[in-house]
Amino acid sequence: MDQPIIEGIPGRYWHLLEDGRVQCDVCPRYCKLHEGQRGLCFVRGRLRDQMVLTTYGRSSGFCIDPIEKKPLNHYLPGTPVLSFGTAGCNLTCKFCQNWDISKARALDRIQDRASPEAIAEAATRSRCRAVAFTYNDPVIFLEYAIDVAQACRERGISTVAVSAGYITAEPRVEFFRHMDAANIDLKGFTEGFYKHLCSSRLAPVLETLEYLKHETNVWFEITTLLIPGENDSQTEIEAESAWIIDRLGPDVPLHFTAFHPDWRMMDTPPTPPETLRRARGIATKAGIRYVYTGNIHDPRGQTTYCHVCGVVLIGRDGYELTAWNLSADSTCIKCGTRCPGVFEPIHGRWGSRRHPVRVGGRR
Ligand code: SF4
Repeated sequence: MDQPIIEGIPGRYWHLLEDGRVQCDVCPRYCKLHEGQRGLCFVRGRLRDQMVLTTYGRSSGFCIDPIEKKPLNHYLPGTPVLSFGTAGCNLTCKFCQNWDISKARALDRIQDRASPEAIAEAATRSRCRAVAFTYNDPVIFLEYAIDVAQACRERGISTVAVSAGYITAEPRVEFFRHMDAANIDLKGFTEGFYKHLCSSRLAPVLETLEYLKHETNVWFEITTLLIPGENDSQTEIEAESAWIIDRLGPDVPLHFTAFHPDWRMMDTPPTPPETLRRARGIATKAGIRYVYTGNIHDPRGQTTYCHVCGVVLIGRDGYELTAWNLSADSTCIKCGTRCPGVFEPIHGRWGSRRHPVRVGGRR
């Protein structure tokens, strides 16, 4: 049984319905709640006739990761990023690869207490260039994520949202105004996939992607986890690629990553590496300039090539950088073509290390 709500900070984006219920307007689920009920995400709920966020300042743990693990290949390559999540999620993906956090129904999963200032300080201390909201979707804890982002900006630290982009129009504006980079999961390219495997909808995710491209300066990349027999057909990958070219242009990087059996899909086999390489070929043929494979060993599929002359711009083997052929102004050293993204003259050297850190105190 869900834990009763006993505390929370006031949440934004909700209103009272005529029938006495309170409707949360943060995401397209629009949960309608009686007193004491939680939304589907579990972390937002109704307490004393208003919506509250129950996980402000609480985390499931902090880890310094390579930025490439988010995945972001065109944002400060080689640098470390302080990563954390809370609990809960507003999607119900049967293939969730982080289900111990996203499906957490007991708040004992989130034992670390950390103020926004403590997180920003920890990032500075550990020489991280960014803080990433990851492991679960920051949309559901946007009040906390925004305060962390503000504390980070005051110290010159950027913030990265790893999100499914399942958010409504008004909070979308506020949330992404505080983010510097994002990786958005485009989980499939049919409404059927979203409905049957995530009990959600594709259209709001596409709206988020178009919003990011046309109305913000947030650097973003897209990830599609390919699941055998579910979203890996040639037709679907062609449709996704064509939409990206048409609505976002050729420069938004696309990552095809490998599924492994997890959560409610233990009987589905892992994605064969060949499926990822085939998808990369389809998207490249459609005109997307930077297409990557992930969760497999595939240095060729993880390397950034100049889309004009074909030279290796950034070589990668897993999360290790193996070559760097970008000039100080982010152009190809051979032909001078600009590579889109956020780069610095000297790349980071964090490599593939993963380093848990303690921030704040235990409950
Ligand atoms: S954010 Fe949570 S409570 Fe609000 S509508 Fe979405 S799932 Fe429901």
